[in-house]
Amino acid sequence: HLFSANDYLRQHIRTVPDWPAPGVQFRDITPLLQNPKVFRVMIDAFVHRYMDDGMRPDVVAGLDARGFILGAVLAYELNVGFVPIRKKGKLPFTTVEETYELEYGSATVELHSDAVRPGDKVLLVDDLIATGGTMMAGKKLLEKLGAQVMEGAAIVDLPELGGSERLRAAGLPLFTLVAFD
Ligand code: AMP
Repeated sequence: HLFSANDYLRQHIRTVPDWPAPGVQFRDITPLLQNPKVFRVMIDAFVHRYMDDGMRPDVVAGLDARGFILGAVLAYELNVGFVPIRKKGKLPFTTVEETYELEYGSATVELHSDAVRPGDKVLLVDDLIATGGTMMAGKKLLEKLGAQVMEGAAIVDLPELGGSERLRAAGLPLFTLVAFD
C-alpha cells in the first residue's frame, strides 16, 4: 500500500485536552520528535518540497519556540541560513517588532534588523497554525525588512480556527502535513 506521511505522522501527535486552558485541545508534537524514524519522515517531507531549485528559499525563518526545532533542521538540510523570530525581549541586537492580538491580550515578536536582506526569499516555519496570528506577525516582520515570504510551513493545521484560510487570503501560500478538526 502507499505510504501516507499524513497518517503516519498523525499517529505520533499527542492530543492533550484542556491544556493550557479549558477547552483547548493541545496538539503536542514532542512524541513525533522523540522517535528518530518519525522525526526523519517529518523533516524529509519538508526537505522534499523545498530542495528543488524553484522552491528553495534563501533563508528559513523559525517562530519561537517550536518553529526553531523544525526550522533549524530544515535550513541545515537545504544548506541555507536560519533566522529566529523571538518573543519580545530575547534578541540582543537592534530589532524590528510586531504586536498582534491574542484571545486575551496581545503578544509582540521581534526579528534582528539585519536578519534578512531586501529581496530575500524566505520560508516561514512554525509547528502549528491555529488562528494564524503568529505566522501573520512573522510575515509582517520579514516584509518590514524588504524580504519576500514565499510560503508558510507547519506540521499541523487547525483549519476550523480559520487561520490558514486567513493567511492564504492575505497572499501567503501554506504547506502543512497534518490537519486536525
Ligand atoms: P496562532 O497564532 O493562533 O496561529 O497560534 C499558533 C501558535 O500557538 C503556534 O506557535 C503554536 O505552537 C501555538 N498553538 C496554538 N494553538 C495550539 C494548539 N491547539 N496546540 C498546540 N499549539 C498551539
